[in-house]
Amino acid sequence: MNARYNSWLQCFAGCDERYGLDEIIYRCRKCNSLLEVRHDLQALAGTGPEEWKSRFSERWRAVSGPDASGVWAKKEWVCPNVADENIVSLHEGYTPLLKINSPFDNLELNNLSVKLCGNTHTGSFKDLGLTVLVSMVRQMRAAGRDIPAVACASTGDTSAALAAYCARAGLPCIVFLPEGKITPAQLVQPLANNALTLAIDTDFDGCMELVQRVTTNENIYLANSMNSLRVEGQKTVAVEIVQQLNWEVPDWVVIPGGNLGNVSALGLGFDMMLRLGLIDHLPRICCAQSERANPLYRSYLKDFERFEPVKAGKTLASAIQIGNPVSISKAIKTLKDTGGIVEQVSEQQIVDACAATDREGLFTCPHTGVALGALRKLAEEEIVAPDDNVVVISTAHGLKFSRFKTDYHWGQQEQLDNPRANPPIRVKDSYDAVLAAINDRIRRH
Ligand SMILES: *Cc1c(COP(=O)(O)O)cnc(C)c1O
Ligand SMILES: [Zn+2]
Repeated sequence: MNARYNSWLQCFAGCDERYGLDEIIYRCRKCNSLLEVRHDLQALAGTGPEEWKSRFSERWRAVSGPDASGVWAKKEWVCPNVADENIVSLHEGYTPLLKINSPFDNLELNNLSVKLCGNTHTGSFKDLGLTVLVSMVRQMRAAGRDIPAVACASTGDTSAALAAYCARAGLPCIVFLPEGKITPAQLVQPLANNALTLAIDTDFDGCMELVQRVTTNENIYLANSMNSLRVEGQKTVAVEIVQQLNWEVPDWVVIPGGNLGNVSALGLGFDMMLRLGLIDHLPRICCAQSERANPLYRSYLKDFERFEPVKAGKTLASAIQIGNPVSISKAIKTLKDTGGIVEQVSEQQIVDACAATDREGLFTCPHTGVALGALRKLAEEEIVAPDDNVVVISTAHGLKFSRFKTDYHWGQQEQLDNPRANPPIRVKDSYDAVLAAINDRIRRH
């Protein structure tokens, strides 16, 4: 299908070293920096912007084949090197961009949408990246490469997605998880998909170190975010957003950041649209962090002149409880290129933002709460104006974090206020008792 397009791995530090996409390599052999996927933009520019737009529109939500996936419908931009028969898809992508009212009292936001990336097979945006990575591994195995298994360290969502795509591809999968730091819903996903699940007595950064050592020494393929194939799939979120806004660029995109692969993916998607002429400017990006795991925010305060890892503290936003983000250099580049900013939020601001949007009909996960809490601060400081077109990236489905919800409504989050708590009302088995409970809450005339 795409013989005339090509992509490859290239050193991110600009030492210009190139590697094939089918090489088992995560960092530059010359200078040890991260790698990135590069595309033959000249070949892609042979197709004009209007033609790309109409192609993508025609393919939107096909029922079968590669175009049934929001990622593979943009295959020429993502990974043209994968043959269609090697694609491992769970029909990821094509998630709703939902317009909502301002959830915040006394704060006007007239153009606010939430990109519900959690409305997907395993319940988080991680599906977008792992479909690409696992498809590439399937292709390498089909070509006779010896890859007996794929492994990752995870704060819960990468492992769920990796396990699902590996199960679909018939590929052995190993997940390294920090014991007791992920939710039961996240833990049960790799178990159900038959991954070898290691619950390790450390935090995410500790799991990351171990999986890197194992995959360096043994022939096991590493699926963490230094594997730059993943951001190629994740960057389609930027294209989908613009497509859903009828090819308009939003003023702001607010996204939570942990390991910082996703914010760089977002930047890459917008950058590619700009280079190929589908858009004529970039949005401003705000990367939002928890105050308890805020290494990017601290670096931002020093104009990114220095970066120091931190020891991540316990936060409700467990998927971004990361002190030493792998993709730091890529994230900083994205933020510099887009006039981006970094904001941080407290635990109280997270729960408030989640409860406020839930009252608008959403079911917001704590990481999305980090982004929404940051947006609230930006609106209060008038950095974001009431009529700005704002898109908040919702990274996971709230159902993965049901304990976070019940703790809020049952009043079991220590030291946090829960003004929007809505616990169940216990009622006796009696008509009068039921009616009394209704009249207590519902106004009727
Ligand atoms: C992985 C994840 C993030 C953070 O993405 P990074 O690429 O690590 O910055 C945020 N929210 C959820 C729900 C995630 O699973
Ligand atoms: Zn290099």
